[in-house]
Amino acid sequence: MSTNVSYVPGVAVATLHSKNLEQRVALAAVVIPFVALVIAIVLLWKKAVGATELLLLAGMYTATLMGITVGYHRLISHRAFETMPVIRNVLAILGSMAAQGPVLHWAAIHRRHHSFADRPGDPHSPHMHGEGPKGILRGLWHAHTGWLFVHEITDWAHYAPELLRDKAIFTISQLYFLWIAIGLLIPTVIGGLAAGDLHGALYGFLWGGLVRISLVHHTTWSVNSICHVYGSRPYKIHDRAANNPIMAILAFGEGWHNNHHAFPTSAMHGFRWWQIDLSGYVIRTLQALGLAWNLKLPFITRSAGQARYQLKRRQM
Ligand SMILES: [Zn+2]
Ligand SMILES: [Zn+2]
Repeated sequence: MSTNVSYVPGVAVATLHSKNLEQRVALAAVVIPFVALVIAIVLLWKKAVGATELLLLAGMYTATLMGITVGYHRLISHRAFETMPVIRNVLAILGSMAAQGPVLHWAAIHRRHHSFADRPGDPHSPHMHGEGPKGILRGLWHAHTGWLFVHEITDWAHYAPELLRDKAIFTISQLYFLWIAIGLLIPTVIGGLAAGDLHGALYGFLWGGLVRISLVHHTTWSVNSICHVYGSRPYKIHDRAANNPIMAILAFGEGWHNNHHAFPTSAMHGFRWWQIDLSGYVIRTLQALGLAWNLKLPFITRSAGQARYQLKRRQM
């Protein structure tokens, strides 16, 4: 039973009942996919995994991580661009399949992260956990996974009032477990149909379902942990968010985290041509097709005689 109480704006203490349920769900979401990963490795050891399973893994990883990065994060939490309701809802459903919490809950927690970044009140800062290597390790663990087990409830009405009033987003949030189930069913059915037997269905469930959830979890959590500790900081901001090129590749552009904390509502997180930002390219493609509009972007100028770009805040 935790006695930790956080008195920060918009953070309330829950009842013991909801705490237990919340922690059991978090534990299941962490442990089950990880156990599946171990089982998958053992299976791979004895019998090579086929192209179908790898395609299911890659396809489901891409679809659900894009649901998180483009949908949950840039569109819904930061309102970085506008799109038609059907695209917004599909992105929110794909994000839900990643099993990182209902969209309303995710957006409220994420907005709290930006409000208190690396200060008391930040739900998952790797800092503030002691000095030296031990403190860094403790902090990395907390930011990566440990924070999921800390008992705090973020007030949705405080951090996401407009989402709470949004019927579609509210309904998608309410049906969270259904989307997870569908996200597991899709690779199971495809795997079964491709192989024509039950083994194919089981491998599809394992690789495209549970292993994929585990990988997407760790990629997203690494943005919270690694990208607040390791990387470059071209913009002087009040927190420790850093640009990490490896995480930028794995997390579809979200690794340009110093850029993001400097310009949180920007639709693009990669600001230079070499800063690969797959989520940003998806948004740009939607814009080119007329399916996304009103993109919020930093205004980039090249001042006379200077070889470096300056980013100015506009519409941020
Ligand atoms: Zn951050
Ligand atoms: Zn953000």
